[in-house]
Amino acid sequence: MAQQYPKPLARLISELARLPGIGNKTAQRLAFHILSLPDAEAESLSASIREAKKTMRYCSVCGNLTDQDPCRICSDKSRRDDILCVVESPQDVMAMERIREYNGRYHVLNGVISPMEGIGPGDINLKQLILRLQQHEEVQEVILATNPNIEGEATAMYIARLLKPSGIRVTRIAHGLPVGGDLEYADEVTLLKAVEGRTDL
Ligand SMILES: [Zn+2]
Repeated sequence: MAQQYPKPLARLISELARLPGIGNKTAQRLAFHILSLPDAEAESLSASIREAKKTMRYCSVCGNLTDQDPCRICSDKSRRDDILCVVESPQDVMAMERIREYNGRYHVLNGVISPMEGIGPGDINLKQLILRLQQHEEVQEVILATNPNIEGEATAMYIARLLKPSGIRVTRIAHGLPVGGDLEYADEVTLLKAVEGRTDL
């Protein structure tokens, strides 16, 4: 139990245990590992957290995580302006970028609609998407690339309904992705097939 440790160590363990996917046992192992590091290495770890927190922000255009605003993708003049891919998270942008076939823009929701968790349309980066589409009439197609699970599907359907009156072509990536699987972890071939096989909503 963390409480039995001296206070500074207990604090480190409890902070680590709050990270996603880190149970108490792993937190203890990590804490002991950190304490065994040379001072410079431990200092570098904590400095990297501070630096990333201080410099990384959400792009004011697309919602992607970035160290410059607008982000590199939004600032890239060589990319297509007529196609916009809507994803749940910055990690999904990275996944899409790995397949190299997609050369349009992105919109990062930074969440999904989830009534179970009390997350509504107003809690994700959706208003900005509508605003963007109103300001940029050059967008011809919106690809909904939210994850193939209940929340991802519900969010895609919600956005599709919202965009219907605009007349913009709205597509959904194909179900080549394993149901319940995350875009983030899909291999490039699977993801490419899912994008190529997208269907109109
Ligand atoms: Zn951006």
